[in-house]
Amino acid sequence: MEFSLIAKHFTRPTPGAVLGVGDDCALLAPTPGMQLAVSSDMLLEGRHFSPQDSPAGIGHKSLAVNLSDLAAMGATPRWATLAIALPEENDAWLTAFARGFFRMADQYGIELVGGDTTRGALTISITVMGDVPPGQALRRDGARAGDDIWVSGVLGSAALALAYRQGRLFMEQIDAAKVLPALYLPTPRVALGVALRGIANSAIDISDGLLADLSHILDRSSVGAQLEFDALPTLPVVQTYLHEAVARECVLAGGDDYELCFTAPAERRDAILAAATQANVTVSRIGRISAGSGLTVMAADGQPLPYDKTGYDHFAA
Ligand code: ADP
Ligand code: MG
Repeated sequence: MEFSLIAKHFTRPTPGAVLGVGDDCALLAPTPGMQLAVSSDMLLEGRHFSPQDSPAGIGHKSLAVNLSDLAAMGATPRWATLAIALPEENDAWLTAFARGFFRMADQYGIELVGGDTTRGALTISITVMGDVPPGQALRRDGARAGDDIWVSGVLGSAALALAYRQGRLFMEQIDAAKVLPALYLPTPRVALGVALRGIANSAIDISDGLLADLSHILDRSSVGAQLEFDALPTLPVVQTYLHEAVARECVLAGGDDYELCFTAPAERRDAILAAATQANVTVSRIGRISAGSGLTVMAADGQPLPYDKTGYDHFAA
């Protein structure tokens, strides 16, 4: 597409790169002694956002979900590339999208160094790169039997907002207003990820739902887990809807939270609380890693809560 479009909307100073947007390739000088963490995430209209969503919000979210992967690895954000397909050259849309994108980028210190722009159904594909000291990345395969399981922030808000938007859950408007930002403007837990280096044994970000994403840690680490449903942190407004099965599903298995789920030995509890304070985010202990396999969710009455592992369907009350 036109170079003027790229120059206007996607070209910013990149002091952290040798060469940014404008040549055949960006030139990056990896930080000596660091490993490079690299991840891509693609967002499609109709699947990850709808045509009427605000372009600034789409810009925010598309970079936020990528930064969340760096956070889950304990990496410091450095560089991003952006491949975007647009049905038409819409200056107002691009201006707002770039505003949301660069506000996120500036906040987390990541520089857009290149990409591709083409005509087509609205598609956004971002690749992010970050620094992590050798041996300190927060991998999925490091959980050990006896580890505490922790989660940052609150769960279920984004999924509740989506259920409300799709008419699957009735909410008072004043309540919906409290959960909608979680869906449209997620916060990647970058500072927490960095602070957990050398403290957490394993970590993942919650993009598909707590049960599904924790299961990835369990599979990669060859361990099992027991969760306490009542220990799962939620906004107070979410608590008032927990009598509804769909709301309980949102907390256990709803996607789009972008919180970190991580594990660590019990003797590191103080270090974790200090890391959370440093990162200015709350953390909650929600269960324990066990030897063997399987994921059990305990209800308040001490009975296992039946659930559907993929998380999208009903579990009994
Ligand atoms: P080429 O044909 O060599 O791939 P392009 O015309 O696609 O070059 O891109 C020109 C320059 O603009 C390149 O440096 C590329 O990385 C950058 N670029 C293209 N699209 C984007 C975008 N959406 N965001 C950031 N940089 C972009
Ligand atoms: Mg190109």
